[in-house]
Amino acid sequence: MGDVLVVAEHEENRIHPITFELLGKANELSKKLNGKVRAVILGRGVRDIANELVYYGADTVHVYDNESLRFFNVLLYKENIVSLIKKFSLDLVLIGATNKGRSLAPRIAASLKTGLTADCIDIFVEKGKIIQVRPAFTGNIIAHIYTKTRPVLTTIRYRVMKPLKKDEKRKGEIIVEDLKFSNSKGLKVLGKIRDKEVRISDADIIVSFGRGVKRRDDIKMIKELADLLGGVVGASRPVVDEGWISKDHQIGFSGNTVRPRLYMAFGISGSPQHLAGMKDSEIVIAVNIDSSAPIFRYSDYCIVADLYHVIPNLIRRLKKIGGSNG
Ligand SMILES: Cc1cc2nc3c(=O)[nH]c(=O)nc-3n(C[C@H](O)[C@H](O)[C@H](O)COP(=O)(O)OP(=O)(O)OC[C@H]3O[C@@H](n4cnc5c(N)ncnc54)[C@H](O)[C@@H]3O)c2cc1C
Repeated sequence: MGDVLVVAEHEENRIHPITFELLGKANELSKKLNGKVRAVILGRGVRDIANELVYYGADTVHVYDNESLRFFNVLLYKENIVSLIKKFSLDLVLIGATNKGRSLAPRIAASLKTGLTADCIDIFVEKGKIIQVRPAFTGNIIAHIYTKTRPVLTTIRYRVMKPLKKDEKRKGEIIVEDLKFSNSKGLKVLGKIRDKEVRISDADIIVSFGRGVKRRDDIKMIKELADLLGGVVGASRPVVDEGWISKDHQIGFSGNTVRPRLYMAFGISGSPQHLAGMKDSEIVIAVNIDSSAPIFRYSDYCIVADLYHVIPNLIRRLKKIGGSNG
C-alpha cells in the first residue's frame, strides 16, 4: 500500500475546486494506506500555483511547467502522468469527473492496463482494500467496487467530497519535473476558442429545459428567464444530444450534479437519470403539461401548465419588477 496521487485540474492557472476536494479525500485515504499525498499539476506557469496544493493537503507536488502545456493536451498529460505513476509505483490515483478528467482517466487506465471506476461518489479503505462507491443501473443501486489491478484509478464527481481547510502554514515538497514526450504525436492543440465558462455545479439558480421545448430557437426565452433571475441554463440529455446546447449544461446521471437553491424544470419529465443530478436542489419548481410527470414527485411547487404560456408571463412580470435587481 502506498501513496495516493491527485491529478490537479486548473483553467488558465486557476485551480478547479474539485482538486481541493480530491486532496481532502486523499489525505483521509493516505493515512489508512500508510502513504503520503502526492499531487501532479501540468501547465504553463503552474509552478507559481503549486503551493496552493500543499495548503489543501498535498505532501509532494510534481510540477510539469512547460510552454507546450499551455493548452490542455490530453496525450501529453497522459504520457507524463503514466510515467510518474510508474516511477513511484503508485497504488491509487484520483481524478475529477470533469470534462477534462473524463477524457484523461480512461487513457491513463488503458496505458497502464488497469481498470477505471468512473463517476464515484465515495471511496474508502476497509480491511486494507480500496473500495470505490458509485451509483449503478442508472442510480437504482449503489455499487461498492473493488479493483484487483493496480493502480486503482478513480474519477470522482464534483461537490461530493469536502476539502480540508486551507492552511497556508502547511509545508510540502515541490518537485519540478522534466516534461517527457513533448514531441508526442497524434494531437496538436492549435489554440483555444473561448466559450463562456459554465460551471453549472456552482450555480445557485438553474433554469432547466427538456424535450417539452419544441424548437431550438425557443432556448432564447429560457436564457432570458435565467438572466433575469441571475441564474444559469440547465438541460436534460435529449436536448444536449440534439446539439441544442453544450454538454456543460447537462444535468443528470451522465451530466452534472447540481445542488442549487432554486431549480426550475420546464418540460422535463423527471426520468431517474435526470433526477440523479438535481434531486438535492433546495427548492424545485416544475412546469409540465402532464400532471402525472414524475418530476412533480420531487418538486416543491408543481405547475401543470404549458411552458409556452408560463415562461413569457414570468419574463414579463420579472421585467416589470426589475429582474434579478428587483
Ligand atoms: C445511461 C443513461 C444516462 C442518461 N443520462 C441522462 C442525464 O444525465 N440527464 C438526463 O436528463 N437524461 C439522461 N438520460 C436520458 C433519460 O433516460 C431521459 O430520456 C431524459 O431525461 C428525458 O428528457 P426530458 O425529460 O427532456 O424528455 P421527456 O421524457 O420526453 O419529457 C418531456 C416532458 O415535457 C413535457 N411537455 C411537453 N410539452 C410541454 C409544454 N408545452 N409545456 C410543459 N411541459 C411540456 C411532457 O409532458 C414531458 O413530461 C440517460 C439515459 C441513459 C440510458
